[in-house]
Parts: sequence; C-alpha cells; structure tokens
Amino acid sequence: MSELPLTYVKGIGPQRAEVLQAELKINSLKDLFLHLPFRYVDRTQFHRIAKITSDEEAVQIRGVLRTLGEVGTGRTRRLVGIFQDDSGQIELVWFKGIRWVMGALQVGASYVAYGKPTRFKNTWNIAHPEMEKAGAMEAPLVAGLQPVYSTTEKLSARGMNSRGMERIIKGVLNELPPLFPENLPHYLLDALNLMPRAQAMMEVHAPRDVASLKKARYRLKFEELFMIQVGLLRQKLINQRKLQGFTFSEVGEHFHGFYEKLPFALTDAQKRVLKEIRRDLRSGKHMNRLLQGDVGSGKTVVAVLSMLLAVDNGYQAALMAPTEILAQQHFQGIYEWLNPLGIRVELLTGSTRKAARRDIAESLESGELAILIGTHALLEDPVQFANLGLVVIDEQHRFGVAQRAKLWKKNKQPPHVLVMTATPIPRTLAMTAYGDLDVSTIDELPPGRKDIQTVHRFDNARARIFGFMAEEIAKGRQVYVVYPLIEESQVMDYKDLMDGYESIVRRFPMPDFNVSIVHGKMKAQDKDWEMQRFVKGETQIMVATTVIEVGVNVPNASVMVIESAERFGLSQLHQLRGRVGRGAEQSYCILMSGEDISADARERLATMCRTNNGFEIAEVDLRLRGPGNLMGTQQSGALNLAIADIVKDQELLQLARAKATQMLEADPELSLPENAPLSHFLKGKIKKIGWGRIS
Ligand code: ADP
Ligand code: MG
Repeated sequence: MSELPLTYVKGIGPQRAEVLQAELKINSLKDLFLHLPFRYVDRTQFHRIAKITSDEEAVQIRGVLRTLGEVGTGRTRRLVGIFQDDSGQIELVWFKGIRWVMGALQVGASYVAYGKPTRFKNTWNIAHPEMEKAGAMEAPLVAGLQPVYSTTEKLSARGMNSRGMERIIKGVLNELPPLFPENLPHYLLDALNLMPRAQAMMEVHAPRDVASLKKARYRLKFEELFMIQVGLLRQKLINQRKLQGFTFSEVGEHFHGFYEKLPFALTDAQKRVLKEIRRDLRSGKHMNRLLQGDVGSGKTVVAVLSMLLAVDNGYQAALMAPTEILAQQHFQGIYEWLNPLGIRVELLTGSTRKAARRDIAESLESGELAILIGTHALLEDPVQFANLGLVVIDEQHRFGVAQRAKLWKKNKQPPHVLVMTATPIPRTLAMTAYGDLDVSTIDELPPGRKDIQTVHRFDNARARIFGFMAEEIAKGRQVYVVYPLIEESQVMDYKDLMDGYESIVRRFPMPDFNVSIVHGKMKAQDKDWEMQRFVKGETQIMVATTVIEVGVNVPNASVMVIESAERFGLSQLHQLRGRVGRGAEQSYCILMSGEDISADARERLATMCRTNNGFEIAEVDLRLRGPGNLMGTQQSGALNLAIADIVKDQELLQLARAKATQMLEADPELSLPENAPLSHFLKGKIKKIGWGRIS
C-alpha cells in the first residue's frame, strides 16, 4: 500500500513524478503526504508597509511591483524590486536565482509578498520573499489557513509551487488514512489526549481551524520525538546488555592518596559527576559517558580520579588528547600529581623516540605501566595493553567516530569510555544528539575565578588596543591575537593574518618584544616549536589562527584579541576566550569587528560581552543557528527533524523522553499487546534508520 507509485496520483504524470523524486526524494504517495507544510498563512491578514516594525517575524503585503532590475556586479550582484502598497514602499532583494525570478515576475502586476523584513541603510527590505500573484489569492482552497509547502525552482517550473502542491495533495487526501495507521499505544493517546495519527496527518494538510491544527501538530511532534527517544534508549539497552563492563569495586589507596593530597576541595559539581562515574564503574555495565564542563571547570581532576579507580582495581588507563601540545600538557600536570604517589605515567605521541617507544610498549604489555597519555598514536596497532580498563578522551569533537571505534578493539572486552568536552551542549540537545550516551555535567567553576572582561571594539580603535596590550605586557603578561581562517577564502584570510602580524611586529619590535606566529600552513614541528616558545614565556604575543582553539594552557596569558570576530560562531568565540582567564590575574577578551555587521553577528558579540557561562552561550547559539551546526553534533542524524523543533519543543522532548523511558522500563522488548502498534511500526522503521553509535 505504502508503495503506491506517484503516477497513480491525479495530476502527477511520469515527468512530475521524476522531478519530485529528484528534487524532494518523494517516491510514493506516502512520501507525498509526509511532505508537510512548513507554515500556514492566514490569508485574511495583510501588513501595511508603513506599519512594519523591527520585531516582525515575517509580513504578508499586498501591493504592486513597480520596478525590477539588477544591481552590482560579482559578489554584490543582486536583483532589486520596488514593491508598493497604499502606505509606502519596500525593497525586495534576490541574491540567487536572479534569472528565474526575472522571468517569473511582471513589473506593474499585483502580488502578495511574504518574508522577513530587515532594515538596511534606513530602508526596509525583504530578501528572497515568497511571491504570489494577487489574483490567485482571492479563492483560497480553504478559508483562512493555507498550508505553505517547500518547493524548488524545478518543481515550480512544472507547476508544483506551493499552491500546485496543495492542490495535488488535497485531491488525494481520501487515500491518506490507510497509509498512516496508529503507531502509538492507546494508553499514551488517552493519557496525553493526543489526536489519532491519520486524523492529525489530514489536519496538517487541510486544517479546519487554528485549534485543531495545533492539536494535530502537537500529536505529530510528540510522535516524532517519542520514536527517536525509543530508538536511542533501546540502542542503549542493547549496548548495555551486549557489553559487559569491567567492575571496579575497590576504591583503593591510589584514589585516596591522591584525593587527600589535592590542594583544593572539589566543587559540588565535580563531586556529583565523580559519583555518577563511580556508580557506572562498579555496576558491571559498560560505561559510555560524556563529561561536559566549561573551560576551566576542572574536568582533568575528575578524569585523573577516574583513572585511579581503574588502577586501584588492577587495570590500566589511557588519556587521549587531540594534539601533541595538549597531550604534553596533560602529561606534565598528571606526572607531577601521580609520580610522588609511585604511579608510573608515560607519554606517547608521534614524536616519541624509538627507544622510549619500545620501552613503553614493553611495560604496557607487562602491565607495569599504569597510565598512558598521548595523542591518537595510542590507537596505532603496535600499542598493546595488558588490561586496558578505562579510556578518557579529551575534547571529543576532534576525534572521528572511526578513531573511537578503534579503541574498542584494544581489548577483548571494551574499556570503559569517558569522553570530555568543553563545548557545552544544551541539555535537551544532548538528550537527542547523545541519546545513547550518559551525560554528566560540571556546571560550576572552582571558587575565586575572576570573570573574563569582554568588550566589543570597532577596527578604528586598534591603536588604543595596541596601547592596552603594551600595558599588560609591561606587567609581565602575554597576549593572543587570533585571526579567522575559513577555508573557502584561505588566500585572503592568510593575507589578513600576515598583514596583522607585520603591523604588530612594527608596533612591538625586537629586542623589547618577541612575537610568535602559528597557522595551519606551518609544519606540525614548527607550529609546536612556536607554541612552546609562547608557553615558556619567551614570546609575549602569539599571533595565530584558530589552531590554538583547543585546550592550550598558558596561565600567564591575560589578553585575547579576536580579529574579525563577527566571522566566528558563538561556541568558537567562547572556546577561544577560554584560552585566557586561567591564572590569578584579571583577564580580558577584546572582540574586534568592522562597523557594518549583521544583526546575528551583533547578537553573538553582545552575548559574549554579557556572559561567561558556556551553557547560556550554547543556548543562544542553538537559537541562532539551529541544532545542525553546533560543534560536536554533526554526526547525529537524529537532529534532522521533520516537524518538531529541538529548540522550541524542549518541553515536549522531555515529555517524550520520560514516556519512552517509562515504557521501556516496563516492557524492554515491547512485547506487551498494548505496545504492539509501536513495535510493528518500529520493525518497519529500524531498517531505514541506522541509529549510529556516537562513541
Ligand atoms: P578543564 O575543565 O578546562 O579541563 P582543568 O581541569 O584544566 O579544566 O582545570 C583548570 C584549573 O583549575 C586547573 O589548574 C585545576 O588544577 C584547577 N582546579 C580544578 N578543580 C579545582 C577546584 N575544585 N578548586 C580549585 N581549583 C581547581
Ligand atoms: Mg581540559
């Protein structure tokens, strides 16, 4: 039934079917129904141009297209139309599809234009508005709410613009019910007062009124989120059952010895997280846990204590960092902590000498070496552990899934895995992006930290910024100056970086000053060498691209200047800022930009100036960019939602998660008769979606 070919549908011939397949992957009647409207227009409401204010999401205007013409050349080439109603006029702008739009629109005709107004140089404009001939509007297929479908140029050219799509779907709506049998158990429908599935699907294509549309969408959103959570939670159950974990039942002398010698008390958040890890490690189940905490929140101590639990129980532990420098810094710190306790710690990276390498290999295999720190060199085949019990991975988003998979093969039984990340992910997003991982969060900084003072300055303030840098350097501090390096325009960015470097060297000349430079085009060895000079304090200024983003620790650095800050994403800005504020001194972050920047960029920079809290920043980032672009979540297909919205539907997501958990606790195999509709539905579904394992 669900495989009914598209050509069966009235109004769809072989050619249209082919375009639908190619453009929207719509292969069957069922797929066609699953192409949901992305919004609805209340055709009775029109905005007047004179009344447009800045806080309008989107406006619908009825008016006349007065002029239409191309402006600019090259990158600034665009199509501009003047659109007028009886209260005033507005600009319509297209950057893409210019020829197509010119062919489709007639100057002098009446249209209804729809889109988000923005203000630029004192006039309102709408970029890429949806345009519809005003005449077509007078007879809506349904009074009031009209569905709007996403479509493409090619589809529109074959008469399948939103209106055409609407007409076709409405023509076959009678065929819908048998294609969408109920897939939620009855007790859930009753408890949550959900609309039946087929009815909800009919309703979203042809809403009767606002209230029933809302109910229909609620039902479909719940269904979508619930199915994802059931999938993720079941995967987790299966993993847990399949994977036996080593049991670390002892809390022994090494753990206690280290804990008692710590020069500070753990924060409550560190204690809570440690408890969560300990519970996992003694449960007999396999641990697969994400530890997230802002830069400087003290993840390393937690990692070391966890590794000591492994050691106390006779197992080895490894810590893997994404770069040589980071591995080295971890090694130095951890060596100083653990060597006095008589625990052997070694470092293994790409540049470890052959002899040392051989020695490490031998003592690893004999089990004499308890803790190994390194880069992905740890994953290379010759590295064999006697009994690897726990692996800690720092800064998770730098490691590919394949690399992590390699780890699992280091043992007969996979070691426990603790993944640490300093890129906070909002809780609800973590629930979905890492649904089969357990998540621990350090949401508190150690006491006594001074917040980094962050300001936004325009490029014309550079002389003053240089003056400020000089003052800080005179106090013995060090300064980072970071330039964006974005692949597409590498040549230009590279020139910016070198120009910037030269003007800094001119202002801060030798022998009083030494300036380091590090960028992606340098050889790894040269990069390391320059970085080390800065780490040792031999240079006062580090000019760099974002290669310094991850984890480097130079407590004496107190100023972070970020050039063209408007070009960075929020989480990246936050990561960069985290390079300072690691010592006792007051630290500063200076965000430089030109004056003409977008509203989004302005909000990003304002957010940085307002808060140092990574979780708050992640929430704003999520709102501004949507979930797909957040760092560390790219691998997750579970985020491509059809109807629910991870940001706006957070409460519903939590409800879906809770209901899925409850249900699986009572019926892990979904074998109870009342869960039959669901298990039947999932059987068909699982084949299609590969619920990828994240770690
Ligand atoms: P991150 O979470 O960014 O990896 P680190 O583990 O490097 O943070 O910790 C940052 C600094 O804070 C380190 O110097 C560490 O020794 C120190 N630190 C960690 N926990 C505490 C604490 N509870 N009280 C005081 N200082 C702490
Ligand atoms: Mg760290």
